[in-house]
Amino acid sequence: MHESLVDLRSDTVTQPTPAMRAAMMAAPLGDDVFGADPTVNALQERIAALLGFEAALFVPTGTQSNLCGILAHCGRGDEYIVGQQQHCYRWEGGGAAVFGSVQPQPLDHAPDGTLPLAQIEAAIKPDDAHFARTRLLALENTLGGKVLPMDWLRDATALARKHGLATHLDGARLFNAAVAQSQQSKPVRPEPVEGLAPASTSSARTDLVFEEARRIAGHFDSVSVCFSKGLGAPVGSALVGSREFIARAHRIRKMAGGGMRQAGLLAAAALHALDHHVERLAEDHALARRLAQGLAAIPGLRVEAPQTNIVFVDLEGEAAARGAGLIDHLKAQGILATGLYRLRFVTHLDVDAAGVDRAVAAVRGFFAQA
Ligand SMILES: *Cc1c(COP(=O)(O)O)cnc(C)c1O
Repeated sequence: MHESLVDLRSDTVTQPTPAMRAAMMAAPLGDDVFGADPTVNALQERIAALLGFEAALFVPTGTQSNLCGILAHCGRGDEYIVGQQQHCYRWEGGGAAVFGSVQPQPLDHAPDGTLPLAQIEAAIKPDDAHFARTRLLALENTLGGKVLPMDWLRDATALARKHGLATHLDGARLFNAAVAQSQQSKPVRPEPVEGLAPASTSSARTDLVFEEARRIAGHFDSVSVCFSKGLGAPVGSALVGSREFIARAHRIRKMAGGGMRQAGLLAAAALHALDHHVERLAEDHALARRLAQGLAAIPGLRVEAPQTNIVFVDLEGEAAARGAGLIDHLKAQGILATGLYRLRFVTHLDVDAAGVDRAVAAVRGFFAQA
């Protein structure tokens, strides 16, 4: 029936490109449990420097990265303040509570994804035997595809610091936030340098994205980033922080079973992604806007304007009443999406404009049925 699958369930579904596979095959390897994998070491040094931290730890998943981060900041009987919708509260099986006896204190998000400062402050417990010890503020950017405002990141982390809390950022999609922010700022005009070929606009643009990522990360004591989401690597995340913090996280990673051996095979994919797949996230964002525009023209669909690569859609009125079979209908047309709470479509490396247009047509076709 359909030529190929258009998989919009998540940006985790990407296949490694031929160039990424070649980089993996060529990577020098060693046993990383002995600290002897040169490619893992290179990745850790690269991502730490890129985000402005002393040290980094390569981990298999974003979940393990957040777990190591929270447990390196908090001990038994401590508590972390977190948003209701954040991955490290809602979507990680309660790992910090299960493995670390760390209690979450979830707060409701404002519509823009922020947590109101007054509510953060009110949630910080006094030093009293009745209460868990509030130790950490954990935030996420992007959150459900939303870019959190820099002023709020600055104020929320300053508030945490004022009360002696540490700060952690779940930046699984930090580079999506950085790309979106860098596009809002100045356009890049490469400076001509006498006697040299002009600097490529592309690398100037990538430098600007890295600068923006560093600016966001700079508000936090620790940051977790995923290489396996929009960056297109098959596996892998990194946790960054101070040398001392990463030493603690390293011990926790071992306990969690995350000490991997010739992991340079995977780190090579992450290094390749940092070299080649960061700036192109802008294409995913453009495709998400194209998808949103197409879907918004269908009666009964309320489409949240995407800031990055995730499009949320709510069905209203008659469309809501008829929407039950939509996901299955799309699947029969070779279009995959998720509808756990709301309809969600995620763009990535392996979808193009034609795929997005097919998805829009399939949704329109569903609601056009008698
Ligand atoms: C995907 C994701 C994670 C977890 O990453 P896994 O590699 O799937 O464990 C953590 N936080 C956010 C915001 C994510 O989107």
